[in-house]
Amino acid sequence: MSLAADDSAVLSGLCHVRHDWTRTEIGALFDLPFPELLFRAQSIHRRYFDPTEVQISTLLSIKTGGCPEDCAYCPQSAHYDAGVPAGRLMTLDAVLVEARAAKSAGASRFCMGAAWRSPKDRDLEHVCEMVEAVKELGLETCATLGMLTAAQARKLKRSGLDYYNHNLDTSPEFYGEIITTRVYQDRLETLEYVRDAGIHVCCGGIVGMGETRVDRIGMIAALASLPVHPESVPINMLARVAGTPLADQPPLGPFEFVRTIAVARITMPRSVVRLSAGREDMSEETQALCFLAGANSIFYGPKLLTTGNPERDRDRVLMDKLGLSPME
Ligand code: SF4
Repeated sequence: MSLAADDSAVLSGLCHVRHDWTRTEIGALFDLPFPELLFRAQSIHRRYFDPTEVQISTLLSIKTGGCPEDCAYCPQSAHYDAGVPAGRLMTLDAVLVEARAAKSAGASRFCMGAAWRSPKDRDLEHVCEMVEAVKELGLETCATLGMLTAAQARKLKRSGLDYYNHNLDTSPEFYGEIITTRVYQDRLETLEYVRDAGIHVCCGGIVGMGETRVDRIGMIAALASLPVHPESVPINMLARVAGTPLADQPPLGPFEFVRTIAVARITMPRSVVRLSAGREDMSEETQALCFLAGANSIFYGPKLLTTGNPERDRDRVLMDKLGLSPME
């Protein structure tokens, strides 16, 4: 894309939120010279957000391991031996202990994840009790429980759930290389039920799984062409876990990761873009570039479900160094 043609595309992106991004346009953004791409992403970021604020979420695994799905990146899948034993659903009291700790550490949102293909109605009852109790602490709530029916989404909404996380993971074309126990359309259906129930959508993907740039373009195109952009877009760098099929995947270069963040910011200007998994192995400089490219949310706390995450002190130091503060 020439700069002149590109200017009009990006300017239109500056003026309104679009849902008709083509893969060609998204590919042209990826191809921009790095300083140009970051400048555009940062310009759009400033139009919609305070660039010094970062939203802070904490993620707790309320039911770990033994999942019947075969997501190739996931140590919780029962298909792989990654040393994550199957656990039971946590008790309400145990969840509340963690939620109080997250709140006092500065989190504004508490996300609860369960390793299910889809929740049984009896389990959903318990999760709804958790959502109600966590909300009473003054925290926003998010859950990620697998595929939902429309009725289950409405039930979660009635319990007060603010966000539901359900990632598209990658491009439609590459999806079958990563997961065979469900299809892309299943994901889109759950997203529709969640949106129809009036719950905010948290939906993003993972890079570094062996996909090509064309797949990363396809993933962003799928997210940016949803009828309503997800309020929250987590962009994960693959955390390579021994025992999973992707354990030996060569790492994706940091600049390509930053580019993916920048393109997500430009194409979904009102969404909070979350720098999610993979931060533990990321340098401070790469994370700083991600914030410059428009990332404005992180998971806070030493664990992300079952994989590592930077210790809270390390994040506090980094935010201080960069002059960033938690978003209210
Ligand atoms: S990512 Fe979720 S659905 Fe996939 S195996 Fe892990 S816990 Fe199960």
